[in-house]
Amino acid sequence: MKPIPYGRQHITEEDIQAVVQTLHSDFLTQGPKVEEFEQAFANYVGSKYAVAVANGTAALHLCALALGVSVGTRVITTPITFAASANCIKYAGGEVYFADIDPETALLDIDKVRSLLQSKPKGYFSGIIPVDFAGYPINLEAFRNLADEYGLWIIEDACHAPGGYFINSEGDKQLCGNGNYADLAIFSFHPVKHIATGEGGMVTTNNRELHEKLLLLRTHGITKNPELLQENHGGWYYEMQTLGYNYRMPDMLTALGISQLKQAEAGLRKRQEIANRYDTAFRTNAKIQILNPAANQPGLKNELYHAYHLYVILIEYRKGLYDYLRAKQIYAQVHYIPVHTMPYYQDLGFNKGDFPLAENYYAQCLSLPMFPSLTKEEQEYVIQRVQEFLN
Ligand SMILES: *Cc1c(COP(=O)(O)O)cnc(C)c1O
Repeated sequence: MKPIPYGRQHITEEDIQAVVQTLHSDFLTQGPKVEEFEQAFANYVGSKYAVAVANGTAALHLCALALGVSVGTRVITTPITFAASANCIKYAGGEVYFADIDPETALLDIDKVRSLLQSKPKGYFSGIIPVDFAGYPINLEAFRNLADEYGLWIIEDACHAPGGYFINSEGDKQLCGNGNYADLAIFSFHPVKHIATGEGGMVTTNNRELHEKLLLLRTHGITKNPELLQENHGGWYYEMQTLGYNYRMPDMLTALGISQLKQAEAGLRKRQEIANRYDTAFRTNAKIQILNPAANQPGLKNELYHAYHLYVILIEYRKGLYDYLRAKQIYAQVHYIPVHTMPYYQDLGFNKGDFPLAENYYAQCLSLPMFPSLTKEEQEYVIQRVQEFLN
């Protein structure tokens, strides 16, 4: 049995050909594939606009800048996420606040966010960054209502959830990143994510003004658009109108993205099948608690569609199981070490114990192998090793 990671890209011959074709073309960086990928992605998640960027972290950074985060801007996020969800606020000079998770779902708890907002004068906070952790769509309708009450913007970190959706109070399907509730949403195309391009990221939005800001910020703050120029000296002329970055995604990677996107639906279905098999195997084991079990079965728990970036179980002897699985060539992972406990954030004044529910979750969580090319045999092997350790 070869080693089984927790996540892995699935690259087809078609993907390879798509990249090779761009290598024969005139464009290595900003070529026609960039806009094609942006349009296909916007179409997939149901947003008006999409902006391809260098990676998910760059996407978060540009979102913070486009929303005007600067020194003194206060933003709330969850401690159970990848550090970049919080770091983007620090890049722009702002201040990060955390609110604890809902232990049922491991998502940012809206009631905790509300309490934090109520504890300060109105206008104290500027925004919220909720995360569709593990691929489980957070209820952004509820967050939008809360944000409107306090005049806040929302960046949805949807890195785990392309293709996932929840059902809103009117019974309508709301795809993660569709821009109906969040001002901006971001995605990553890191190899463990649903759509893999090596490095790569996307911002989606329905807001035209933010879309234009993002385009400017992605390319050094430089524009050649005649409608936006303050002067025009001729065909060569461009203006740098704001301090931007080189956060572009190259043509060859967007070509890979276009090809990967075609398989995204099929990949999601595979993830669901794998989740259902884990659910069935572990449901009756009293030593295992499944995070968000059976979320896909209509009427069972939630009216939503879990994108299953991660399949998370909670167990008491987490380190023991982790080490046991490693010895058997199964590379399960822990998502995540609470961000506020990182030395950098402790230096900013956060302490262990600040968010006990996140810390309690961290003490028990383990992400089992979950990726579309995981075979039934491999999964059966994983299930047996887990049961064997716990029994
Ligand atoms: C992967 C990830 C990111 C960062 O994406 P990169 O492309 O690796 O920079 C941000 N937030 C979450 C929740 C992620 O999983």
